[in-house]
Amino acid sequence: MNDFLLTPIEFLKGVGPQRAELLRAEVGIFTFGDLLNYFPFRYIDRSKYNRIDELIYLDSFAQIRGRIIQVSESGSARHKKLSAKFQDESGVIDLVWFQGGKWIKPLLKIGSEYQIFGKAKLYGATWSIPHPELTEWKDVSQKSGLQPVYSSTEKLSSKGLHSKGIEKLTAALVMQIKGKIPESLPTYLISENKLISRESAYFFVHKPENEPHYIHARLRLKFEELFFLQMELLLRKQLGMRKSRGFVFEEVGQVFNDFYNHFMPFQLTGAQKRVLKEIRKDFLTGHHMNRLLQGDVGSGKTLVALLTMLIGIGNGFQAALMAPTEILAQQHFETLKELIKELPVNLELLTGSTKKKNRKIIHEGLENGSIHILIGTHALLEDVVQFSNLGVVVIDEQHRFGVAQRAKMWRKNTIPPHVLIMTATPIPRTLAMTFYGDLDVSVIDELPPGRKPITTSHRYESYRLRVFGFMKEQIKLGRQVYIVYPLINESETLDFNNLMSGYEAISRAFPLPDYRVSIVHGQMKAEQKDFEMQRFVKGETQIMVATTVIEVGVNVPNASVMIIESAERFGLSQLHQLRGRVGRGAEQSYCILMSGDKLSKDTLRRLETMVRTNDGFEIAEVDLQLRGPGDLMGTQQSGLLNLKIADLAKDQQLVILAREEARKILGLDPELQQPVHATLKLILSEVLRSKPNWGKIA
Ligand code: ADP
Ligand code: MG
Repeated sequence: MNDFLLTPIEFLKGVGPQRAELLRAEVGIFTFGDLLNYFPFRYIDRSKYNRIDELIYLDSFAQIRGRIIQVSESGSARHKKLSAKFQDESGVIDLVWFQGGKWIKPLLKIGSEYQIFGKAKLYGATWSIPHPELTEWKDVSQKSGLQPVYSSTEKLSSKGLHSKGIEKLTAALVMQIKGKIPESLPTYLISENKLISRESAYFFVHKPENEPHYIHARLRLKFEELFFLQMELLLRKQLGMRKSRGFVFEEVGQVFNDFYNHFMPFQLTGAQKRVLKEIRKDFLTGHHMNRLLQGDVGSGKTLVALLTMLIGIGNGFQAALMAPTEILAQQHFETLKELIKELPVNLELLTGSTKKKNRKIIHEGLENGSIHILIGTHALLEDVVQFSNLGVVVIDEQHRFGVAQRAKMWRKNTIPPHVLIMTATPIPRTLAMTFYGDLDVSVIDELPPGRKPITTSHRYESYRLRVFGFMKEQIKLGRQVYIVYPLINESETLDFNNLMSGYEAISRAFPLPDYRVSIVHGQMKAEQKDFEMQRFVKGETQIMVATTVIEVGVNVPNASVMIIESAERFGLSQLHQLRGRVGRGAEQSYCILMSGDKLSKDTLRRLETMVRTNDGFEIAEVDLQLRGPGDLMGTQQSGLLNLKIADLAKDQQLVILAREEARKILGLDPELQQPVHATLKLILSEVLRSKPNWGKIA
């Protein structure tokens, strides 16, 4: 960094102490450099407008030029709503404000021309745009080119620093940067990748005259951001490799061999074998294993977990398996207990509902080493849970655990135990590469043999009778059916009423004595839930009406139809998990997504994706594009994905490129000793010093 970039923001013309204080407090802009890095989130191109009669999709962004023809207010004092009718040459829409009407209203001049921008929604039969960006046409800067749009806050806006105010500041600043922005990338990297200079990039990202300007500017800045991220990850990995010590498991051991030779329920798939080999290799390095195992629902991760733990036990260590929910922990416990019942391996279950007396016995067994495998929930993390010699930790469904929680497991032995993290929510490769830069990744990309792909369809309400007809056919063939309702929040009365009226409708359409219907939801007592579940498992009932409580932990191979009600309300990965409840037997299975007719573009894309593919990775890719990576897991905690301009979902090609370039450089010059890499070294040593060592625990 140099003096120019570090200049305090109050020294910029048009700022001053008062605004500077606000910029610091509201958006973290302290210096000239910070302001340059405060990027526009879009550009207004005045040559492109939408016509009102072209609005088709919900939630799509629209920019419209037109006139306000009417303004009205409604609602009581506390819930006042302001609305305006807005007209262009093709039609009329509503603009609505649920908040801030008081200061918006004076800005709405009937008959004046405006440019508006916002997300189109449909209420009843009328299109409307809630809380649009609104600019009077005469104020839309008339010079040619593109207008950058910056995010602002209420406080900033009140001091004139709405988007346009910020634009004035950045415009003033970029006029001064000539010769003052040092290049951060090696020259050869810039020319090989046809990037523009850092200085030009900062200029054009804030002041583009045409589209290619900002495209090139953003490309350069994104590349830089991703490249330094990758360099950082790779360097940390290099450092980590040298340092962290781990237990060595010389051989697979007796229990593993006994199990493998005599009690394996089936042959391992090729993918399971490959993953085991990777794990075996880790155990021999003398370093600590930190491996992520990705495998779609039903790909057979549990068996890999068991074999991994048996290796630890055969080498004189204990193992722990941690699951995110009680149902799942219970299920693992039962499955594994059955598998190893002939072996001299002692297995225990510890969850929040373990009785105090048993808890104490388990604690003792762990400390004196008589318990070999402990299965459980968060309860395992508690400090009172101490092992005599913990060597392997398996964490199932890692995304539900926070980073700090995972770190706790590391401290349960003097040398950290080996860690295998299993996830059924496949993480797209580019993201895994970035997010888990310092983790090794294994993939089970093959399902056990004999599975038939599930046939998925999307149906509207008008199709319901035919869906019922199809259910009857399947039940006649001896199959069973799930019907899942969204009860996102189990206490939501509205959702609960829908579930109950759904249950009644089903009971009417599928009457006794020919049909029997079970119901399971979160408000039922545990025993009652279990009882209903068991009836379905045993085949005493043919239909199971349920909420997402069945998302994990249910295995009924005879169930071949999954009907998901109000499918538009579920996220993609949840739909995929739910669908994974069927297709577990030899029969052809079906998944039917029921939805209303008014769907947003994104929702349609979700449902279409489900219909098109069963591939968890492909689904995860689409999910990432629709939601952005922040949502996918507890990414915020690592501070890693605080990207300013790059987008891991949309810029995947660039992520790959940045990764390759970073690898190439560190391959040739691991210590960054060559003169061409002096700047890189300087920047990176600063980065490594300033961030906490999250790499150890991610
Ligand atoms: P997940 O990866 O979703 O945790 P599971 O471990 O529960 O999957 O395995 C799903 C089902 O596949 C289980 O019923 C399991 O017994 C079975 N299974 C696992 N591995 C194999 C295999 N190699 N061959 C046949 N069936 C297998
Ligand atoms: Mg599993």
